[in-house]
Amino acid sequence: MASIGFIGLGNMGAPMAGNLLKAQHRVTGYDIVATAGAALAGKGGHAAAGVAEAAAAGDVVITMLPAGPQVREVYFGPGGVLAHARPGALLIDCSTIDVETARAVAAEAAAKGLQMLDAPVSGGVIGAEAATLTFMVGGDADAFARAEPILQAMGRTIIHAGPSGSGQTAKICNNMILAASMIAVCEGFALAEKLGLPAQTLFDICSKSTSQCWAMTGYCPVPGPVPAAPSNRDYAPGFTAANMLKDLRLAQQAAGATSAATPLGAAAANLYQLFVDDGGGPLDFSGIMKFLRRTEPPAVPAAASEAKGGGK
Ligand code: NAD
Repeated sequence: MASIGFIGLGNMGAPMAGNLLKAQHRVTGYDIVATAGAALAGKGGHAAAGVAEAAAAGDVVITMLPAGPQVREVYFGPGGVLAHARPGALLIDCSTIDVETARAVAAEAAAKGLQMLDAPVSGGVIGAEAATLTFMVGGDADAFARAEPILQAMGRTIIHAGPSGSGQTAKICNNMILAASMIAVCEGFALAEKLGLPAQTLFDICSKSTSQCWAMTGYCPVPGPVPAAPSNRDYAPGFTAANMLKDLRLAQQAAGATSAATPLGAAAANLYQLFVDDGGGPLDFSGIMKFLRRTEPPAVPAAASEAKGGGK
């Protein structure tokens, strides 16, 4: 049983902290949204008044925050984790952030004698609730060995990816693949709908065929086939489209910096940008189904239409 400070009790952090409590750990949590701390207290945890109190309460401090700027804010500065963590505490950031920030925070922690891991997750809110997350972990092997029993209370697959930043590298690649596969699944279901094939029939066939993938069978973007998927509750998140766009931008930044060819990743980033600009940011990322289903093909200009023999 460990004492754990947990900062960031949102869609993912709240169920992850809940699973640490179920595993008999002592959890002191903090979120800028006060109701999140109260909810943790209702499950048997303790609600801290601020980052400093949560950081000082743990032999292990876990953060689950939206993006790099929030991670920098929470770790650096006079009221932050690095200033208030116990000597020898293990710091684990599970947020999905840029590799550069992950390495910068870990280096600053090391300078204070604290071990730190980047440990982003895959599996979504469903995996967070069921304690079946996959953790991809970057940092020293001995820090990984210390973290493993804690992470096991929240996940099923815990993989040491390599040195600091490697977890984030794996995560942005995973999410770029996921975004492209989600868009492909949405397009397939939208086309079937136009052709009059029921979604359940397409699901029954494709889930046993070569197009089978997690975006379809674990998180189907049309209501019905996968009851736990956000599509069944009008795309309440889940994993927001805004966060998916953030991860796709991180992947595009990394692709640009390394001259990696990622044309589908670029197309996925553009489509999610359009969806977010259209107001879809707070919806689950599978809600891009609504956007793709609605989008009509661009009108063909009259001249081009005639040139192709249109109207005959
Ligand atoms: P979320 O927005 O629901 O939760 C983030 C929480 O951090 C919020 O409750 C917010 O109030 C809190 N917060 C922000 N700034 C803070 C601060 N300064 N101090 C304390 N709390 C602060 O996001 P989420 O869906 O839980 O995702 C968290 C991270 O996990 C993101 O990086 C996301 O990309 C990643 N992730 C999410 C999912 C998913 O399915 N939701 C899956 C895998 C990874």
